[in-house]
Amino acid sequence: MRNKLAETLANKGIADRKVLEAIKAIPRHLFLDSSFEDHAYQDKAFPIGAEQTISQPYTVAFQSELLAIKPDDKILEIGTGSGYQTAVLLQLKARVYTIERQLELFKKTKLFFSKMGYRPKKYIFGDGYKGLPTEAPFDGIIVTAGAPYVPNPLLAQLKIGGKLVIPVGDEDQIMTLFVRKSEREFVKEELGSFRFVPLLEDKN
Ligand code: SAH
Repeated sequence: MRNKLAETLANKGIADRKVLEAIKAIPRHLFLDSSFEDHAYQDKAFPIGAEQTISQPYTVAFQSELLAIKPDDKILEIGTGSGYQTAVLLQLKARVYTIERQLELFKKTKLFFSKMGYRPKKYIFGDGYKGLPTEAPFDGIIVTAGAPYVPNPLLAQLKIGGKLVIPVGDEDQIMTLFVRKSEREFVKEELGSFRFVPLLEDKN
């Protein structure tokens, strides 16, 4: 079923072999509540509790491809959720720092990571709008919730040459890629429309 999913994603335009291999390697059904297990290898988003969703595999693959991860890259993920995107990043051999602001989900996924042996460098309960200044700069930052605007700290925490992949917008989001060219210069590219749950502010 995972091979078939990877094939579907390739047909939808995902070209990066390493990303497709990672999708084949990660058992997505284990990230869903058992009542949804049957749906795990369809290219669809699903509820994971606390009004949140596990992203659609195509979206996970698309964002991962944009990051163009090299082994050992230092990657910050905002919105851990089920941990599926985290697992894909780890499979791509990134050093992953990931932040979740929903306590219930944070705890659930923390247990799941230890059960599965997934080891992000840091898994933090907090507000992703601020990024993670103590660990910056990053080779890549991926936001997996819809951001009403681009938080400045995230741009500031990129290495020169680093990439920020962030869906920007309220109802629908435009997938946006920023590449840091120098201290002050960023190149921005817009890459199509997506729909995410919102990146929420100021709860903690
Ligand atoms: N990558 C996840 C997608 C989860 S949905 C997966 O594959 O399962 C987006 C997640 O972002 C939700 O878990 C939500 O609680 C979280 N989130 C929303 N606002 C946030 C914020 N300000 N900081 C960190 N996480 C946030």
